Amino acid sequence: MANDYREMWSGLGLNLEAHDGLMAVLSDAYQNIYLSQQNRPAGMGYFDFVISEVHGQRIVEILKDKIDGKTIVGTFCLYVPEELILAVDGVAIGLCAGAEVGSDEAEKYLPRNVCALIKAFLGFKLAGLCPYVESSDLIIGETTCDGKKKAYEILDDITHKVMVVEVPHTKSEEGKRLWRKEVQKIADKLTEVSGKAITLPRLREASKVVDEKRKALKRLSSLRAYDPAPISGLDALLINQVSFYDNPVRFTAKVIELCDELDQRVKSGKGIAPKGTPRILLSGSPMAIPNWKVHAIAEGSGAVVVGEESCVGERNFATLVEQGFSSVEEGLDLIADRYLTINCACFTPNEGRLQDVTNMTRTLHADGVIHYALQFCTPYMVEAYKVKKTTEKQGTPFLRIETDYSMEDFGQLKTRIEAFVELIKEKRTS
Ligand code: SF4
Ligand code: SF4
Repeated sequence: MANDYREMWSGLGLNLEAHDGLMAVLSDAYQNIYLSQQNRPAGMGYFDFVISEVHGQRIVEILKDKIDGKTIVGTFCLYVPEELILAVDGVAIGLCAGAEVGSDEAEKYLPRNVCALIKAFLGFKLAGLCPYVESSDLIIGETTCDGKKKAYEILDDITHKVMVVEVPHTKSEEGKRLWRKEVQKIADKLTEVSGKAITLPRLREASKVVDEKRKALKRLSSLRAYDPAPISGLDALLINQVSFYDNPVRFTAKVIELCDELDQRVKSGKGIAPKGTPRILLSGSPMAIPNWKVHAIAEGSGAVVVGEESCVGERNFATLVEQGFSSVEEGLDLIADRYLTINCACFTPNEGRLQDVTNMTRTLHADGVIHYALQFCTPYMVEAYKVKKTTEKQGTPFLRIETDYSMEDFGQLKTRIEAFVELIKEKRTS
């Protein structure tokens, strides 16, 4: 990092030695995985900068926001409406972590067979690695999967700032009513913590800001449908990951700028890989920074990843909130409805996700689907069966992988993904 932020990190209570270790891992991985890519769009320069300053400049901004009276709200799930946080003039930050550092600390509290994402978020807190957790005034957890909801109890014992909202597990009328009440509960809590009421103009403005971000990400997603793909899956994944940390207005402007550049690439037939490169759709558990493993392997094996049916991906931006509401009440109704369109594997049944995979395979012209689940992530591991059945029914090759944040299985995954890419190539020529 360009500046020395040690005083700031120390003031936030981070463990400087452990944090240095994390920064070194992040910087090496970024160098090897991202900066070694060829032919990247110039617009990626901004996102490279954001990553290089993810624990630096962005934290300086957030701490300044705090001084200016803004409320910093950490979240772990797409089900927490960002609109409500912005409507109380708050700053929304995704707290999911994608690195193994801190897992040893987490295993003092958690069993070993808990998914890597849960271990990482608790581990980052316990090992003093995350300036975002330390800066948060409120952390909103949710009852999606069992591991998360129990881990929030521990996180609250340690931080005393966790609120847990109930996400229904069915999209029945009862489920919808329950969820609408929970959305109100979030609104009330945010008002209480920030001291700012959610007014109609604020809610309208916040909803517009979030929808503009979604539209920009949707545009980026649709540009990946071209062959040759104008951007790598790795870069697109990074942008989706950054969407959980950056200032939303600035982020949207930068994504639009990048999309304008990609439009030019498409017009001139310029791509990140040659036309005809095997195209892969990733589907499954979310990938938090710096979890870039599967994309790196797939693209290093001669394929290009063209989409992510994931919460760090399409599920985050596929649907918009109906704008033009004329009261706060109506706005909250529409926001609640929109969030229930997210097809997380914690819901049953979850046919909508199968439809999403089918649609994305078609619109992005994917040649194969890789189903990615974090080990011990029961909802996605089990739902893989249905995704496989649906995908194979369309005649699309399917590969199921279960992994964690370690590099131990890198070689084995590489062998399997290389064989999958070969299978796609053979299928095309047969
Ligand atoms: S996968 Fe489910 S629990 Fe995880 S962030 Fe997405 S909606 Fe939330
Ligand atoms: S990856 Fe799976 S098990 Fe882990 S927190 Fe998300 S839904 Fe829960």
